[in-house]
Amino acid sequence: MKMSDEINPFDVAKTQIDIVAKEIGLDPNVREYLKRIERALIVTIPIMMDDGSMQIFEGYRVHHSTVRGPGKGGIRYSPHVYLDEVKALATWMTWKTSLLNLPLGGAKGGVCVDPKKLSNKELERLTRRYTAEIINFIGPDIDIPAPDVGTDKKIMAWIMDVYSMQKGRTIPGVVTGKPIEIGGSVGREPATGMGLFFVLEALCEKLSLKLEDQSIVIQGFGNVGGTIAQILYDHGCKILAVSDISTAIYSKSGLNVTKLLNWVSQGNYLKDYKEENYQFITNDELLTLKCNVLVPAAIENQITQQNADRINCQIVLEGANGPVIPEADKILFNKGIHVVPDILANSGGVCVSYFEYIQDIHSYFWKLDRINEELKRIIIEAFEETYKISRERKISLRTAAYVIAVSRVARAIELRGIFP
Ligand code: NAD
Repeated sequence: MKMSDEINPFDVAKTQIDIVAKEIGLDPNVREYLKRIERALIVTIPIMMDDGSMQIFEGYRVHHSTVRGPGKGGIRYSPHVYLDEVKALATWMTWKTSLLNLPLGGAKGGVCVDPKKLSNKELERLTRRYTAEIINFIGPDIDIPAPDVGTDKKIMAWIMDVYSMQKGRTIPGVVTGKPIEIGGSVGREPATGMGLFFVLEALCEKLSLKLEDQSIVIQGFGNVGGTIAQILYDHGCKILAVSDISTAIYSKSGLNVTKLLNWVSQGNYLKDYKEENYQFITNDELLTLKCNVLVPAAIENQITQQNADRINCQIVLEGANGPVIPEADKILFNKGIHVVPDILANSGGVCVSYFEYIQDIHSYFWKLDRINEELKRIIIEAFEETYKISRERKISLRTAAYVIAVSRVARAIELRGIFP
């Protein structure tokens, strides 16, 4: 559900297309086409609750572009999900798969629900009914969902089961981010965090910074935020602050990330964590803390005109999708802050999802070394290309990444032509 004064992420996505269209002189017809989604499905999900009452939820699945291949993108369970948010997330997936040059398009789904308020059985019924409602919209050669905020491997297993039951055979390639025992890939769960790490390491090298000397602040302590926190902590970086939806927690001398992750993995919130010398701070204080690297890894619209001039770091590494809006981008660029855009920084997830998908199709599974090696190769290739273009054209890393991604999709449209 959208609050009336909130920034609409789909407006943000469209503004980003306008910015790159100007940069590359994109055909105005193609620009308008890319600012639309191919199709959207809105579904009603009635659920029998454990107490015998019925509750009705709304769900979505959006295909932004399938011109380069089947749709690919996560499913979000959150009380804040609404259609325009899903449209924006689907659009960003198109650019992400294109930037990595994967033969996939962009899609996304969501259900407007607070999963923490449902029992396990209710969550299962919701997932199974949502899957049944979108069943003709998804499939290994149509659109392949994956986890996002509020969803995980258990939910992917239920989706795969419903799809397989309806089609009369086991079809693991319908979703990625599954448990390993039923066709998931090793390395998929930490993949987004690993990708963030590879990109940060490469950027530090370009900027002649020592990775282990960097102080880090992370917003969001789930799959993405938690993984990058642990990796950087293990590499000796000082993690100054992390946050979840309940609060932000700060220590001048650095947090013990392993202990904090252990705490939240037991279903606890950070607000209930007690440790001497740790201080609770607000979300605004977290984002504006002085540090070397700020990693927004929660949700969109976190760095806006309201706080951009107070951001006090050298690098913003976008773990989340859409955390920085275009107006804030300009301010950060003028301050000389390097913003590594979501479509590059957090693309490790979709990259290993793609590996999972091809492993499922071939029924042949890779070892972790191969996954991480291939992930690093693909993501670093995209980073190098993006960095080079940003230097050559004197543009932000985001605009440079969009130059590559949008040009590829535009070229595919040109080659295929407009049907009929
Ligand atoms: P998650 O549900 O595992 O974790 C989300 C974290 O953000 C939690 O700590 C939660 O408490 C916190 N959070 C939620 N709402 C918040 C709010 N309003 N303010 C502050 N904190 C809030 O989700 P995730 O999979 O880690 O995804 C986080 C972001 O990364 C999302 O933008 C998602 O689209 C993006 N992303 C995820 C993946 C992936 O593989 N999971 C891949 C690429 C991008």
